[in-house]
Amino acid sequence: MNAQAPPIEMTGKQHIDMVETFAAPNYHPLPIVVSKANGVWVEDADGHKYMDMLAAYSAVNFGHGHEGILNAAREQLEKVTLTSRAFHNDQLGPFAHELAELCGMEAILPMNTGAEGVETAIKTARRWGYTKKGVPADTAKIIVCHNNFHGRTTTIVSFSNDPDCRENFGPFTPGFESIPYGDIDALRNAIDDHTVAFLVEPIQGEAGIIVPPEGFLTQVREVCTEKNILFIADEIQSGLGRTGHTFACDHENVKPDIYILGKALGGGVMPVSAIVSSREILSVFTPGSHGSTFGGNPLACAIARKVVEILKTDCYQKNSRDLGEHMFNRLNAIKSKHVEDVHGRGLWAGIDVPKSSGTARDFCYKLREEGILCKDTHEQCIRIAPPLSINKEELDWAMDRFEKVLSE
Ligand SMILES: *Cc1c(COP(=O)(O)O)cnc(C)c1O
Repeated sequence: MNAQAPPIEMTGKQHIDMVETFAAPNYHPLPIVVSKANGVWVEDADGHKYMDMLAAYSAVNFGHGHEGILNAAREQLEKVTLTSRAFHNDQLGPFAHELAELCGMEAILPMNTGAEGVETAIKTARRWGYTKKGVPADTAKIIVCHNNFHGRTTTIVSFSNDPDCRENFGPFTPGFESIPYGDIDALRNAIDDHTVAFLVEPIQGEAGIIVPPEGFLTQVREVCTEKNILFIADEIQSGLGRTGHTFACDHENVKPDIYILGKALGGGVMPVSAIVSSREILSVFTPGSHGSTFGGNPLACAIARKVVEILKTDCYQKNSRDLGEHMFNRLNAIKSKHVEDVHGRGLWAGIDVPKSSGTARDFCYKLREEGILCKDTHEQCIRIAPPLSINKEELDWAMDRFEKVLSE
């Protein structure tokens, strides 16, 4: 027998050192190395168990290791995983049909990452503006909101107002104007003859789970229809069950012209994104005008079909509605000088801590000591977004710990 080197067991510290040595320093993760996960629980390389209260920014809405999703992936892995769009595959058609139906729309354009979905929506809106609305060539304007987060491509950071994600990445893409989030008059005033779309998160995620004023989305729908511009809802983080409905727009019974979906669409297994819209709007594309080698690949489609099937049952949305209400009751009951405000919807909350109490990250470290993993956003906000598969017992276990840490 050949001599075999014994398996090298690395400690968490060694993993972190290795990442710091060999990977670019464009992240600042909490110092925990996850090596296993199931449902709402993750385990680190040193054998400690934690409850996942971030769910990969809502990409793991259905829980880690969802058996149905894993089986869909396994079955497809054995058949065919990638064809490119040079040929058809037998998963794309059914996926397109099923996703369009779930969204109450007519057609989809599949991509991989969320940012690609956003880029696709931008290209759609610009082409629509030139070919259907008659906007003069190369003058299209898209209105966006302050504190938006839509991804990391050069064009997308061009209309961000977060200095960290823009610094030294210029020159930037023109054609965007930013207005205060939730301000319908600002939207009205910003629209001119060149405007082709309003791109908005129905609830702002990275900004700190910011819910717009009641009625805002309804008014956006009215204004966009009246002014003949496209209402593009970036539901990459807010959609697919997170807020207690399939879409955050559903809370106001509003339908945008384009949904942008991502994150949970890939079932926590692989990147799958798509824009979903009408046949008419998506017909601005012609063969060769846009594409992606991996977009619409059979493995992604098979996984996402399972996700759509899961969403059709309304189970996760209902759990998010019911337990979300319970979570907000518990969070609002915490009377502490460390809690300035609690906001969000469904199983999605932001807790603002005052500067005098330290940073949100300080609290995330304390929560980790208690067995809870969550992530700060923008210095003073602790965000909570557990897998939507969480049960009441698990949620109460977590809330007991939030109460403890926030009351200390
Ligand atoms: C995460 C996110 C994106 C970008 O998705 P990636 O897959 O990271 O490119 C875009 N919009 C919103 C609202 C997001 O939360």
